[in-house]
Parts: sequence; C-alpha cells; structure tokens
Amino acid sequence: MHTTDNTRQAQAVRLDAVSKIYGRGDNEVAALRDFTMSFATGTFTAVMGPSGSGKSTFLHCAAGLVRPTSGTVTVGGTDLAGLDDVRLTRMRRDRIGFIFQSFNLLPSLTVRQNILLPLQLAGARPDKSLVQNVVRRVGLAERLDHLPSQLSGGQQQRVAIARALVTRPAVVFADEPTGALDTRTAAAVLALLRESVNQAGQTLVMVTHDPVAASYADRVVFLADGAFVGELHRPTADAVAARMTRLGAWEDENPQHAPTVAGGQY
Ligand code: ADP
Ligand code: MG
Repeated sequence: MHTTDNTRQAQAVRLDAVSKIYGRGDNEVAALRDFTMSFATGTFTAVMGPSGSGKSTFLHCAAGLVRPTSGTVTVGGTDLAGLDDVRLTRMRRDRIGFIFQSFNLLPSLTVRQNILLPLQLAGARPDKSLVQNVVRRVGLAERLDHLPSQLSGGQQQRVAIARALVTRPAVVFADEPTGALDTRTAAAVLALLRESVNQAGQTLVMVTHDPVAASYADRVVFLADGAFVGELHRPTADAVAARMTRLGAWEDENPQHAPTVAGGQY
C-alpha cells in the first residue's frame, strides 16, 4: 500500500497524509483523516466503506475537485496544491476523468458532442482513430446522433465513460458508476471499465457499495470514519462481502448497500 521513492514514477495518484475538515467548532467533521495511499499506473482499485466514511471526499480530493485541509495530492507526478485555479482546472480537464453515478451528460448535446466536449474545451483536435476506438468499445457507434434522453441509463453511463476516456487521462475516478444501473447493465459497464485498464493501461479508482462490482478491481481499499482500515488484493465478491461483514456497521439507509452477493452474480 505505502510506496517507496523508487516506485514513485509508477504511481498515477498519490495521497500523503490528506485530511479534509468540514465545518467549524461543534459542527466540525473530519471527512478524511491523515489518509495516505497510492494508486499504481494501469491498476483498477475499488474503494468501499459505510455511508459517510469519506469515500466521495477522498475521490474529490484525489481528482482536484476539493482542496484538502492538509496533506498532499499528486497526480501524474504533479502536486495539485502547487497549482492555481486555472492550472488546476486545466489539469482536471487534461489528465483526470470523472464518472458520476448520475452520468452528468449535457441534455441538449448529442452523444457525439457530449463525448467530444472535453477535447473541445481543451481546444484539442480529436484524434479520430482514438475517438472511433473509444466509441466502438463503449458500443455507441450507432447512437452518435442521439440525445441522452433517447438512451437507456446504461447507454448514458457508457457515453459518460467514453467522455472520461477520450482525453486519455492519467487517471479516471468513478463514484458509484453502476449505482443507478440494473445488474446486467452494471456488468456491461464494469466489463468496459475493466477493459479500459487492461487494454488502454488506464488507471481507475472506483467507489462502490457492491461486492460484485468491487470484484472487477485488482484491489479493494476499505475506509471507515475517514481512515484506511484494510485492503484486499485480487478480490472475489465473497471475500469482499465477508470483509465488509467483519468490518461491521455497513447497514445504512439503503438496504441494497448491505454486504451480500446473493443474486448479484453478474
Ligand atoms: P461517503 O461518500 O463515504 O458516503 P462523504 O465523503 O460524502 O462519505 O462524507 C464523509 C463525511 O463528511 C460525512 O460525515 C459527511 O456528512 C461529511 N461531508 C461531506 N461533504 C461535506 C460538505 N460539503 N460539507 C460538510 N460536510 C460534508
Ligand atoms: Mg459518497
């Protein structure tokens, strides 16, 4: 888990003693406490933890969407704290992809326009063969002129994935990308994410509640109360569910988040 200096170059993302405190005084919440972790280039990591354990805060800090209260975040060798807002925005645009549970597509743009938007914002000319390759991999070649509202949830998430991959970011972060999808569609999206790691050498960090989704990753990192509490390498869904049960306190407002793999074999 902890890296030494000689492996530093192979780390796509690194957090060193990152803390994020929200609020003040009696309202103070430490969403992330002294969190140290690195993510090797070309690996797929799942991040799990009970509701409120700091998963989204971690992801937002690592992606430069939120500035930590203390500690250092390094993406592709660049310390994000050293960047002013303009450079941070450019860094996010060029080197970081983000996939949301709710897709976040622009409703008035076609599939093609949504996918090409990050390149357009960057003023970059699309690499035609790369775009074609990504579009083919997500299975959207026939839908390029459709609007998001004309697509199913799974198709919309595939557009969001294509949009996140088309700039060849150093790392892609995904916050419960299959949370709004049915089991079969989720399996297709997870297979696609896995493929982006295997074939394109993408680095992927994905928050999930689902042991089956986590089993697509190379490693599962467990958080509780804003801190690292354990990890599993080459996880199986059963091993993940067992670990979740052992760590306890997973029951939250959403029963589908309870650690079970029953019926969830994708
Ligand atoms: P998770 O994604 O694991 O459910 P979060 O990172 O969203 O957890 O939240 C961790 C803790 O930080 C929670 O107690 C949450 O209420 C708090 N928190 C998160 N974002 C904010 C915010 N913008 N303002 C205040 N508190 C926040
Ligand atoms: Mg969250």
